[in-house]
Amino acid sequence: MKTIYRSVSYLTSAAKLNQAPEDQGLEVAFAGRSNSGKSSAINTLCGQNSLTRVSKTPGRTQLLNFFRVDHERRLVDLPGYGYARVSEAIKEQWQAFMADYLVRRNCLCGVVLLMDIRHPLTDYDQNMLDWCAERGLPVHILLTKADKLKRGPGLNQVRKVQKTLEEWPGEVGVQAFSSLKRQGIDEVHQVLDRWLQIYSE
Ligand code: GDP
Repeated sequence: MKTIYRSVSYLTSAAKLNQAPEDQGLEVAFAGRSNSGKSSAINTLCGQNSLTRVSKTPGRTQLLNFFRVDHERRLVDLPGYGYARVSEAIKEQWQAFMADYLVRRNCLCGVVLLMDIRHPLTDYDQNMLDWCAERGLPVHILLTKADKLKRGPGLNQVRKVQKTLEEWPGEVGVQAFSSLKRQGIDEVHQVLDRWLQIYSE
């Protein structure tokens, strides 16, 4: 694994856009429903066990958590969505915050969208895709927990999601991913390298 990902470290958290690090350099955001395997995926992609523990600490789950790749590149863990008991008011607040970040953050150059391979393209995922399309942001979809399906059904899910997104106006990639089996890591790194303009090492 490239050392640049191994050396990713926690930077800061933000409850509002104006608390985020200065809007310069390049940023890739990770989005997904809660329990989609987002924290595990970020840890796996960075070859670290507890990098995203901070995103899971009480009081931080609804924040944007920023991780430093180097002085001009960052990864951002967006708040997981989908806790059953969250009120409508909180949901609306959350949506506004998320839309604000996705639409207004200039340094944002791509979104990795995580979905459980067994339950892809929920309403939440559609919202995310719509916001990204509005802004013309490329999206890379990870169908997570791919180890939960056998190879054939797993490939079918990838194809099904690809087919559904055929008409999608922006750049969108789809792949299977498993933190447990360490499947699909190189493919994601290639996308991150491209978006973050990491050319050599
Ligand atoms: P988050 O809420 O989206 O950050 O999801 P987590 O990374 O905390 O994972 C949610 C649950 O799914 C945990 O119980 C993980 O152990 C499990 N999980 C995450 N990734 C995988 C995976 O690749 N395979 C399997 N089988 N389980 C996973």
